[in-house]
Amino acid sequence: MSEEPQATPDCRLYVPSSEDWRAVVKMGSERQYCYSKTPGDTHFHLILNGEIYLEGETEKLCLNCALRMGVVTTDRLFWQNRVRKPPKSVM
Ligand SMILES: [Zn+2]
Repeated sequence: MSEEPQATPDCRLYVPSSEDWRAVVKMGSERQYCYSKTPGDTHFHLILNGEIYLEGETEKLCLNCALRMGVVTTDRLFWQNRVRKPPKSVM
């Protein structure tokens, strides 16, 4: 036995830069494409109705690209590992 079967796979995703991105469920008839591409691919990913994607200030990302780019992570302890941004001064 090399690997134990995981009883409940963890599907949760975390957005370390949570102030920069929001999760959206694609709706409507407008065609939307992921702004990134899989390395080696020439096409942009079509985001399907009902698909969860991330929306930044100007770009949209499918979850595959967001994961690849580190915009989202499955690491629940991300907040321990990341380097904290200094808080923006409001004064
Ligand atoms: Zn993509």
